[in-house]
This record gives sequence, C-alpha cells and structure tokens, in this order.
Amino acid sequence: MQLLTQSLPSGYPYKFDSLNINSMYFGQILEYLEFVPSNEIEKFYFDYKLVLADDPHVDDLLLTDLDYVVFFKKGITISEDLEFKTSAICPRCKSTIDLNFKLSNVRFKHLDPRLYSEILEIKFDNTSRIIRMPTVKEFMTIFSNYRRYKKITDMKLIKLIALFQDSTMYQQLIEQAVVRSTHEDITMLATLDKLFYDTIDPLKVHCDNCVKLDLDTQKGGEVEVSIDKLISNYFREIIENNPIAESKIILREIH
Ligand SMILES: [Zn+2]
Repeated sequence: MQLLTQSLPSGYPYKFDSLNINSMYFGQILEYLEFVPSNEIEKFYFDYKLVLADDPHVDDLLLTDLDYVVFFKKGITISEDLEFKTSAICPRCKSTIDLNFKLSNVRFKHLDPRLYSEILEIKFDNTSRIIRMPTVKEFMTIFSNYRRYKKITDMKLIKLIALFQDSTMYQQLIEQAVVRSTHEDITMLATLDKLFYDTIDPLKVHCDNCVKLDLDTQKGGEVEVSIDKLISNYFREIIENNPIAESKIILREIH
C-alpha cells in the first residue's frame, strides 16, 4: 500500500512522494507475536527493521515520522479501512473502555517547519549546542551503541540525545550532559521533547463508568487516552478483541 509522504506527521517536503508499506500475512503476525522483544529498545529496533524491509526510504525519513509508519503498517495489517476494535484503561476510574478505533481519529500535530528548515541553537550545559531533527539513519547510528552496550534503556532519553547535532561525533559527552542535567537544562530538555516528539494528540474517548460514578461533573464522561499505550501489545489485543465473525465459520456434519 502506498503511504504518501505528504500525509506523514512531520509535514517535511521529502524528495520521494510515497513509501511502499505492506500489510503482514497471518504467518508474519504469528511470527511477530512470537519474536517481538519485550524490552523497549529491542522492540523499537524490531519494528524499524520490519518497515525498512518494505521500503529502504524509511532510512531517509525524519525520526518523528518513523512511529507513524510502524503504526500504519500494523493498522493496514488489521483492517483495510484502518478501523478495528480495541480497549483502553480509563485514566480516571481505571475501568476498561471498549473502543472502535480508526486511524483517522488519531490527530498528528505537524512539526513547526522551522524545526527542519532552520538550525536551532540552544544554551545547554553552559555551551552553545545545535539542535536538529535527525533522520532515521542518523538516529540509528547513535541508537546502535545503546543497543550494544545497554547503558541507557529509556527511548525518550536516547531520542533526546539524538537531537543534538554533536551527538554523532561526541555521543558520550552529550549523553552525560543530558543525563546529568539540572535546573534550567531539565526545562530545556522537556521543551525540546515537546517541540520535536510530542506529535500525537491523545485520543478523546467516552467513559460510561465515569458517568455512572459521577466522576465528571463538567466533561460528560470524556477522558484522554494516550495512543502509545494503544500501540504497544497491539496484535495480541486485536486478536482478542476482533474474533472472527460466526458467519465466516460454517460447521458441517461429517459424513
Ligand atoms: Zn472512567
């Protein structure tokens, strides 16, 4: 299936018009369920390799677009119209909410174009540093060291380190500055995270239980669910929540 690059969350004007992303066969889903690593770092890498095998242009994407491509591949695997049943835990009353999920419900915020067309210079760790959104390929160079040495296992931290242009040359230096940051530098990191990586709006859903418990006097049962939580453990959920319709299975007597 063609995924048009203009529909990617970054809004970046890529030199190629589309990516060729395939849905998975049943056998591949089973393989995925069996082999997908449970730790965050290896799972990220596993998903990356999965979409890279579909289209080598994945390496040329801005990092912020990679999650969307992975999400898209899983989405078209589940249903052609990108609609499926799933569930989420209500952040307010902790009950399970059944959801009819559509990819079109997900609101991706576009990056501010200045974040990829201009260079951002910040003061960090008492030094002037250049910040830019890395491409997937650039990110993978930095990421490979964390896969190998497992010094840091938090994807959020690794993605922040990769924002610093110097991180390709002086990875340890930047890593130390980020990990040991204090005061205003922490605020700076939080701001960068929001600017560059906070691209998906939480999904607004309705919780009947909240209404029943009268926990929401103003919002009419509306709660916000983070999409990340929906993406993880994706297939297992899908298989549990989307049983094959009975009409598709016909029992016949054996003669
Ligand atoms: Zn609730």
